[in-house]
Amino acid sequence: MTNLQHFLILYIKIKIEGKNTMIERSINDPIFHDAAKAREYLESVCWPNGAVCPHCHNNENVYKLNGKAHRDGLYKCSKCHKQFTVTVGTLFERSKVSLDKWLMTAYLLCASKKGHSSHQIHRMIGVTYKTAWFMTHRIREAMKDPVLKRQLGGPCKAVEVDETFWGNKKKRKGSKGRGYHHKEKIFSLVERGGSVRSFHVPAVNAKTLKPIMREQIHEDSVIMTDDMGSYKGVKNDFLGHGICKHSKKEYVRGAIHTNTIENYFSILKHGLTGIYQHVGEKHLRRYIGEFDFRYSNRHVSDTERTVIALRGIVGKRLLYTTP
Ligand SMILES: [Zn+2]
Repeated sequence: MTNLQHFLILYIKIKIEGKNTMIERSINDPIFHDAAKAREYLESVCWPNGAVCPHCHNNENVYKLNGKAHRDGLYKCSKCHKQFTVTVGTLFERSKVSLDKWLMTAYLLCASKKGHSSHQIHRMIGVTYKTAWFMTHRIREAMKDPVLKRQLGGPCKAVEVDETFWGNKKKRKGSKGRGYHHKEKIFSLVERGGSVRSFHVPAVNAKTLKPIMREQIHEDSVIMTDDMGSYKGVKNDFLGHGICKHSKKEYVRGAIHTNTIENYFSILKHGLTGIYQHVGEKHLRRYIGEFDFRYSNRHVSDTERTVIALRGIVGKRLLYTTP
């Protein structure tokens, strides 16, 4: 079985399992304080149908190696004869941090509306700041959209599109601090009632924004924007284009508005300002991805959101130094 097939099966399982089968966890739950319980839990999340060999993707003839000679959670595959644990081939591989701390970090990032800074994680779970930084970025990587993501919108669905600006660290010479050219530019697309997808873009103009819209949004959607010039001609690529004339102080005209995306920007900016004051330009897209993930999975419980993130660790092993 290829990684893609494996992922597809996991994705379908998440959809089928539904809300009622999941036990709601609190931060007092043993899985967040006991490494063995955390491992057992992670196995049930990543291997809902029993252990799968990460080397050859075989899920039959896999057996657990018990006894004192073996480390906890060690399995052996009788097809390729290799040994593995649940973290092999995942974002948690080779980490020295115990799995209960990993689960706690994932839960804290998934269960709060605005996230937690690496400083908070460092103090709350008792790891160094550097380790907390690596851990939170690893969880953000797990939250990233799956490979098989579908386009936003669809027949007669509305997708709101807007841009916002963040920070002012790189004021250019001669700039009086007004305007947006020295700020980071964030471009977001939100399907009403559905998911959001955001991009850290180099510029806000038709040349940058339109290709993203064409790639990310289904052509049968109706696009809602303000009257910024960059959105001119959008109706040629989609079913329709509702324009709210913000420049003329018009904010709602029936179904034509961008209130959904503006509400999202409000959560995003409060979070970035309050929790992540020192977000560098290089890492901005990862933080935005974290907010996108929570918003797109807002209709499920905190535990389910954490499970979705944890399943995202599979097949995404990073190559840089592991804490
Ligand atoms: Zn194998």
